[in-house]
Amino acid sequence: MNLTETKSRQTKYCTQIEQIVKRLGHASNAQILAELHSAYPDVSATTVHRATARLASRGELGIAPVDSGGAMRYDANVIPHDHFLCEHCGLLRDVDIASHIGPLLEKAIEGCRVSGRITISGTCKTCAKGGNFA
Ligand SMILES: [Zn+2]
Ligand SMILES: [Zn+2]
Repeated sequence: MNLTETKSRQTKYCTQIEQIVKRLGHASNAQILAELHSAYPDVSATTVHRATARLASRGELGIAPVDSGGAMRYDANVIPHDHFLCEHCGLLRDVDIASHIGPLLEKAIEGCRVSGRITISGTCKTCAKGGNFA
């Protein structure tokens, strides 16, 4: 395989990976690999790792809170935001909390500036309704 071929394959995977993360909202490398496998059975975990790392370093993918197994997740939304994490099903939802409670937090920590984003865990509506508690 020559260099041009390698390059176009990488671009192809990057485009596919971006689309997968956009569709899922948040996705780990394992999830992305599973999705890619249906179209490209020969794609390797290493290829996915490299492509997601490159996309994240270019700012085309954000970093989301880790999943329940501690696996790193990528975020389709690259604008800084907060997350709601369901402790039962692992659902991760984009929310905007820090801009509402930032002033309260800063008061609580005696004037220190808050710049980090927040992940709040709990039980999502579906799990609360279905009594789907692990
Ligand atoms: Zn849930
Ligand atoms: Zn997010």
